[in-house]
Amino acid sequence: MFVLLNTLRRLRRQIALAPGDAGSVAVRHVDAGSCNGCEHELGAAFGPHYDLGRHGINIVAAPRHADVLLVTGAVTTRMETSLRIAYAAMPEPRLVAAFGDCACGRGVLGSSEELAGAVGGLLPVDLEIPGCPPSPDVLERCLLDARVAKKDQR
Ligand code: SF4
Repeated sequence: MFVLLNTLRRLRRQIALAPGDAGSVAVRHVDAGSCNGCEHELGAAFGPHYDLGRHGINIVAAPRHADVLLVTGAVTTRMETSLRIAYAAMPEPRLVAAFGDCACGRGVLGSSEELAGAVGGLLPVDLEIPGCPPSPDVLERCLLDARVAKKDQR
């Protein structure tokens, strides 16, 4: 077991140091008022089949550890402040991704007085990921682009 762990650690270091490697991306997900359809796809994206973790893309629990704030759902008035707090807690450089048509402002929920509006109206959105819900393939492509963008920012 010890030998196996050492071998894995060495392999991980070699992969991380490979030329052209863009490093990892930590994603903080905030459900700002989703129907949960987008969360199903997110679950699939990070599950064993799509396994975005193999690219170094992982969900983290705290915005302080995150590179990307991934928002799902049309933002409700009750979630607006929490969303702003999560964004403010993130270190620079940071990216905001609107995941799904609702977060992009093109959702089926339309406009209601209970909604604060699309994510783009509240925070500077860097990535719009369309779909209702977007598929894990689309998310994978966008986050791999974000990984490259993160590298360019540094
Ligand atoms: S984009 Fe579609 S799946 Fe995602 S929260 Fe809106 S209605 Fe639900």
